Amino acid sequence: MTAPESIAEHRREDGPPLLDVSMHLHTPASPAVGTVVGSQRCTRPKSHAFVRHISIDVSGTSLAGVIRPGQSFGIIPPGTDEKGRPHKLRLYSIASPSRGEDGAGNVIATTVKRTIDEHWESHRLFLGVASNYLCDLQIGDKVSLTGPNGKRFVLPKDPSSHDFTFFATGTGIAPFRGMIIDLLESGAHSKVTLVMGVPNANDLLYHDDLTNLAARHPNFTYIPTLSRERQPDGSPPAYVQQRLSTHREILEPGLCSDRGLIYICGLAGMEIGIFQQLARILPPQHLDTYLKLDPEARSSIDTWERRMIHKQVRPTRRIFTEVY
Ligand code: NAP
Repeated sequence: MTAPESIAEHRREDGPPLLDVSMHLHTPASPAVGTVVGSQRCTRPKSHAFVRHISIDVSGTSLAGVIRPGQSFGIIPPGTDEKGRPHKLRLYSIASPSRGEDGAGNVIATTVKRTIDEHWESHRLFLGVASNYLCDLQIGDKVSLTGPNGKRFVLPKDPSSHDFTFFATGTGIAPFRGMIIDLLESGAHSKVTLVMGVPNANDLLYHDDLTNLAARHPNFTYIPTLSRERQPDGSPPAYVQQRLSTHREILEPGLCSDRGLIYICGLAGMEIGIFQQLARILPPQHLDTYLKLDPEARSSIDTWERRMIHKQVRPTRRIFTEVY
């Protein structure tokens, strides 16, 4: 007997069971000590941003073999802040697949953008403590790590039952690099689509790797999206959410099925923009499995604001977000 439609819909909104993951195996009181084994710039030379793919050997620690894409680890930069207090722990997303960078789970990686800015009041140079500490590390340097952290932004237990649409801006690509490699190497016949947004072509991260993966795996579609220059095909600058219109024929089939899951990572501003665009293009019976909308919100999509998320605009468990 098939379940009544209302129960079937309820189950879809509940989202899938997620991977079981290990948490908090190393704490600030008992950190893992890893060794830096790689640090490559992952933006092109002409990019104004400095982003590094930093690989750390964690063999012999409890982090080896257990961290899953979507989780993060903590770094405590050495030294103290301007008030003499030890620096606080900062979390960085794992960019490696479950097998690690080395195939054995002993080398994990993250994607770090140097924070370089001007102080808004004093107009003095401001350098982010943790990001510059990590990007300055040299091969062979030791680094203290905590974690793993996070259990809600991971892949489902049974990926083959799902199709995946990933939206990333900037370093928000980090967890998706690992997830996409895991999915493509698992042999699951899932449709996997990545919409990746950066300002200029020179800022694209892991671009050659992602292009090669898409060439080798017909079930993977990679849609780079430039916000400050025309796309290579001459179409205008765009934000990732606009791809739901410009690439509707590619994205809609995966979204309009019981198999669809959406993952969003990067700038906080992208989240409401993606929700608005979903509300504009998806038929109500599919939209309702991703977003629960108050009647007033349903009739005023163009005026949605970020503060409405989790109130008038509530994502279901088919949408996974990590935004800052
Ligand atoms: P970036 O290179 O500056 O790229 C961000 C892109 O997003 C730009 O093309 C930007 O366009 C665009 N954008 C701006 N506002 C948008 C909006 N409302 N909707 C859609 N796109 C928008 O990015 P970044 O400096 O690496 O920053 C990435 C963010 O991801 C950081 O906040 C970081 O903390 C976060 N992050 C989170 C995680 C995590 O949650 N696990 C992991 C890594 C990174 P314009 O600049 O041209 O307007």
